[in-house]
Amino acid sequence: MKLKNVAGTERTRIRVTDLAMFCIRGGGCRVAASLIKQHLASVRFGGDSAAPWTPHFDVVVIGGGHAGTEAAAAAARCGSRTLLLTHRVDTIGQMSCNPSFGGIGKGHLMREVDALDGLCSRICDQSGIHYKVLNRRKGPAVWGLRAQIDRKLYKQNMQKEILNTPLLTVQEGAVEDLILTEPEPEHTGKYRVSGVVLADGSTVYAESVVLTTGTFLRGMIVIGLEMHPAGRLGDQPSIGLAQTLEKLGFVVGRLKTGTPPRIAKESVNFSILNKQTPDNPSIPFSFINQTVWIKPEDQLPCYLTHTNPRVDEIVLENLHLNCHVKETTRGPRYCPSIESKVLRFPNRVHQVWLEPEGMDSDLIYPQGLSVTLPAELQEKMITCIRGLENAKMIQPGYGVQYDYMDPRQISPSLETRLVQRLFFAGQINGTTGYEEAAAQGVIAGINASLRVRHKPPFVISRTEGYIGVLIDDLTTLGTNEPYRMFTSRAEFRLSLRPDNADSRLTFRGYKEAGCVSQQRYERASWMKSSLEEGISMLKSIEFLSTKWKNLIPESSISSGKSLPLRALDVLKYEEVDMELLARAVPEPLKKYTQCRELAERLKIEATYESVLFHQQQEIKEVQRDEALQLPKDLDYLTLKDISLSYEVREKLHLSRPQTIGAASRIPGVTAAAIVNLLRFVKTTQQRQAAMNRVPKIDQQLRDTDRLEESQL
Ligand SMILES: Cc1cc2nc3c(=O)[nH]c(=O)nc-3n(C[C@H](O)[C@H](O)[C@H](O)COP(=O)(O)OP(=O)(O)OC[C@H]3O[C@@H](n4cnc5c(N)ncnc54)[C@H](O)[C@@H]3O)c2cc1C
Repeated sequence: MKLKNVAGTERTRIRVTDLAMFCIRGGGCRVAASLIKQHLASVRFGGDSAAPWTPHFDVVVIGGGHAGTEAAAAAARCGSRTLLLTHRVDTIGQMSCNPSFGGIGKGHLMREVDALDGLCSRICDQSGIHYKVLNRRKGPAVWGLRAQIDRKLYKQNMQKEILNTPLLTVQEGAVEDLILTEPEPEHTGKYRVSGVVLADGSTVYAESVVLTTGTFLRGMIVIGLEMHPAGRLGDQPSIGLAQTLEKLGFVVGRLKTGTPPRIAKESVNFSILNKQTPDNPSIPFSFINQTVWIKPEDQLPCYLTHTNPRVDEIVLENLHLNCHVKETTRGPRYCPSIESKVLRFPNRVHQVWLEPEGMDSDLIYPQGLSVTLPAELQEKMITCIRGLENAKMIQPGYGVQYDYMDPRQISPSLETRLVQRLFFAGQINGTTGYEEAAAQGVIAGINASLRVRHKPPFVISRTEGYIGVLIDDLTTLGTNEPYRMFTSRAEFRLSLRPDNADSRLTFRGYKEAGCVSQQRYERASWMKSSLEEGISMLKSIEFLSTKWKNLIPESSISSGKSLPLRALDVLKYEEVDMELLARAVPEPLKKYTQCRELAERLKIEATYESVLFHQQQEIKEVQRDEALQLPKDLDYLTLKDISLSYEVREKLHLSRPQTIGAASRIPGVTAAAIVNLLRFVKTTQQRQAAMNRVPKIDQQLRDTDRLEESQL
């Protein structure tokens, strides 16, 4: 096991005497020595060099994937001494499947992670090789920033970032077990986690632990009829930890996903295929970047080809040789294997995008061709596709099946309800995708750190961000197939846009969580005040429409009837942008064109001005429901004084919604049940308020008595 203390932070050590722990390991519970007498964090390296010392951190994160890197960096940014424990340092930031980040819905998540000062967007701006905004023909609220990423470069840049993060230590090792102590009485939960046990038997203590183990829990790789244990190709699975979680009583499910074969670049006939060029200019993912690291003309193209009936035949003729497809485990609906596509949509042609794996990579990733047929049949299938007639397969596609934890067992802060201070983030919660993992990682890291400092949790609601939608869907509805983000999952998508993620989240991240740097905070503040100033300026400039038509002849403003129009209304015309407007009214509008991002954001604000007014009213209504908190310790199964069917009670018991709003989103929880719950909550609150008043009234009476006595 290698130990890296790259940031050079001081290592706090604890004396493992007087320690109460019970460790769920292999065969059951092992109750160790004695009771904790001192708060672990307060015990520092002492003078007795013979005593056994164990490392102790505020936050320990398990797993160096997309959730783990964000969680570890976020906890460290929040000021917690953090340890990232992962199988291998050289796989930190590894992209297990597609060489791309972002897309529809996923791009929104990245902007929100970035607004909280997360890593993936900045790393993508340093590692992309083909930047493109998807959904351009639709409104900017649903544009999907996406980029092909150089795998090697992404990993390198991510490792550089992680290994240079202050307060963050990185250590290689396989975590097998959790160390548990008695729960804190003021919180719900059966246990409290206080550390982890590694495969070599060593221990690390922690105030909070974040698990981000991806597809590794009892991971099984499948190609054809062959199955063998692995977290992903070339990586060991995580068995001990999976057993620990099951023994603790977590509800565990099984999911599957898969990856396509990789093809030698020089064996593809690109000349006969449709070429897709990148956008010019490239739009960066991060709010703090004006440009990406590479010019559009130096970026690499992608190519499009299609499947054909021969591909279907090969799949259908060989189903008996394909145990991944026969398994009942659920796979991703929105990124399915070619086998599922052929079975679900017979006689259709499917797109296959040929994507570069890196600037100097010899490999091509055929997106859309995820397959688990035996290797020789995969090659046969590839070579019957146009442009791939002579393609050489370098690595076969494969499937992976793994354990995930029912996400209804975690709260919106991502802390588990069963084990206090234990957080889950990423694919372990049933999601699929780097962006979904990163989004959960940043929230888990922040909350793991806040929990150590006894601060209230940092929760994003559905009205504030796609991250809120993702976490609310998972924690209230659960999932029985790999969950992927889409814009259609967000009911307030005109407000939750990629362009305004900073104004929604950066200030909260800075003030409530402390995870945002001063530089980013200042940039977001400048943008906010510039936008406010710009919008009020645009509202204040008003001419008749005939004058506007004269000033901007290329606009489609009608010159018929002359009506007063504000500059903000003129900016709503599709063909009018800030440049055109500032050319018409240079004073005072020219200064708003100096910053590209500001000019674009003013245009977007103008576009949505009228519809946003109505959406803001709806958001306020939802926020009212969200403000009605349900008591955390309600036992729905036995609760008296409330009329609820047993089915509804069971659903509430399983999901444990925190607010009336969350309860109303659980399928099967009827409108009548919500009304009854509302009445119950209000009566309980009134009773509680009355109880709280009694001592005060008592005290006031006693004070009055005393005053009267003294005046006698
Ligand atoms: C074969 C395959 C195909 C995929 N296909 C797609 C796809 O088509 N589309 C899509 O969106 N997503 C796909 N994914 C999923 C995508 O890779 C994940 O969603 C994303 O990587 C999840 O991030 P994560 O951080 O949760 O886990 P991962 O990125 O898997 O990282 C987990 C990390 O935890 C470490 N770890 C695990 N257990 C332990 C332990 N006990 N001790 C120490 N370290 C541990 C691992 O070494 C690893 O570093 C695929 C994944 C695989 C493996």
